[in-house]
Amino acid sequence: MKVERKTIPQEEIERQVQICHVLFDRLTAGGVQPLALVDTYGCQQNEADSEKLRGYLREMGCGFTEDEFQADIIVVNTCAVREHAEMRVLGNVGALNHSKKARPGQIIAVCGCMVQQPHMAEKLKKSYPIVDLVFGPHELWRFPELLQTVMDRHKRIFAAEKNDGAVAEGIPMARDGRVKAWLSVMYGCNNFCTYCVVPYVRGRERSRLPEEVIREAEALVQAGYKDITLLGQNVNSYGKDLGLDVDFADLIRRVNAIPGDFLIRFMTSHPKDATEKLFRTMAECEKCAHHIHLPVQSGSNRILKAMNRSYTREKYLEEAAKAREWMPDLVLTTDIIVGFPGETDEDFAETLSLCEEVRYDAMFTFIYSPRVGTPAASMPDPYTREEKQKHFDALTELANRISAEKHLQYIGTRQRVLVDGETGRGEYNLSARTNGGRLVHLQGDSALIGRFLEVEITGGNTWALYGKEVTEDG
Ligand code: SAH
Ligand code: SF4
Repeated sequence: MKVERKTIPQEEIERQVQICHVLFDRLTAGGVQPLALVDTYGCQQNEADSEKLRGYLREMGCGFTEDEFQADIIVVNTCAVREHAEMRVLGNVGALNHSKKARPGQIIAVCGCMVQQPHMAEKLKKSYPIVDLVFGPHELWRFPELLQTVMDRHKRIFAAEKNDGAVAEGIPMARDGRVKAWLSVMYGCNNFCTYCVVPYVRGRERSRLPEEVIREAEALVQAGYKDITLLGQNVNSYGKDLGLDVDFADLIRRVNAIPGDFLIRFMTSHPKDATEKLFRTMAECEKCAHHIHLPVQSGSNRILKAMNRSYTREKYLEEAAKAREWMPDLVLTTDIIVGFPGETDEDFAETLSLCEEVRYDAMFTFIYSPRVGTPAASMPDPYTREEKQKHFDALTELANRISAEKHLQYIGTRQRVLVDGETGRGEYNLSARTNGGRLVHLQGDSALIGRFLEVEITGGNTWALYGKEVTEDG
């Protein structure tokens, strides 16, 4: 079965790169390297998108800065998942008034999920005249062309039409680190959880071809990356749109077959289609980290139904148990929304009891934030912010207690960790991750960054483990 799939033709991407080179001549004409600032909000997908924005900007000859007063081009890559993120973006974009006054030629672009919502694009148009360019996630592949139009015509450009999305290959990337890399395997989401804006702003699910994913993974391993995270809103749907008989577990197996010493991680898995095949594959593939981020959102069947999550508490618990059967050392993390419209004390008690039962290694907890245009935003919501906050605090306390208890169990064990950076703090100057992704602080030379080490865990609290390298004779 061949499935219709919208891709951006390769010549189009090449044309964008050529535009970068035209802009290069223009931007570097004064003999000074132009500087760009890319400010990223939200999820890993956005971080991966920003690596593409920086890839294009590098082709234009730009260096990078964190200082808005030094920047010739500013790109704010936004998030729309919760109101809090949007407020921060609006506050920070508003504050760019000062840098734009100091550097009148400065170009300010705002892109990403937030601007894909018509009411937000409108707000930027009306109330933020300093913004020169607005473009949604579906237009990212043609950022050079949009930027060129702003520069040529000296007028504001808004490009965020409703769109199901496409797949664009071959966009240059300037990656953030040398040890860990994001690798998008699919884009968009078809699930329409009733609280969530993602399907509206990121379009329909579309998978990259397996050979494109493998090619990128091979290049990352060649370049020395040791920790590769396969990204998608719901990686368990990978391949469903391709009609090639390749699912996400098959993809993991193919990445695992790439020679080299590296780790495969992935996120996010939707519980409705996490399969035993996936757990078995994780257990059998030696490079696949034993970590699943499996967002449960709520422990109450009534709320799960209202959220349109398509699984029950019982199915979720069964799945978590099955995953642990295959991988007794599995690290399990989750996302939970507190205060979904109509969530009662009884519903919340179900969430607490589920968390007690699963005992997550870490939990990411959020207070429900109404999103324009989603079904949940028009559901009756009689509970006050204070009541929701009380639940939120109780859940955080439980999450912290369980994480601390779990971390204490590591003390005295040996773990193979990947050193991934510096902490910037005195005694324990290095940060590392266990196979399951738990943070370990270590002492050592920064030359160890990018190396796998055997460490003994000497301490732990809610947030981190502490360890020391085990030497051959120790
Ligand atoms: N695709 C991922 C999640 C993307 S959003 C998944 O389905 O797991 C990341 C997390 O933000 C979600 O898991 C959810 O817990 C939270 N979230 C999404 N929309 C929200 C909203 N309107 N209010 C509060 N939290 C929300
Ligand atoms: Fe949002 Fe649900 Fe899709 Fe995750 S699966 S992005 S929560 S709609």
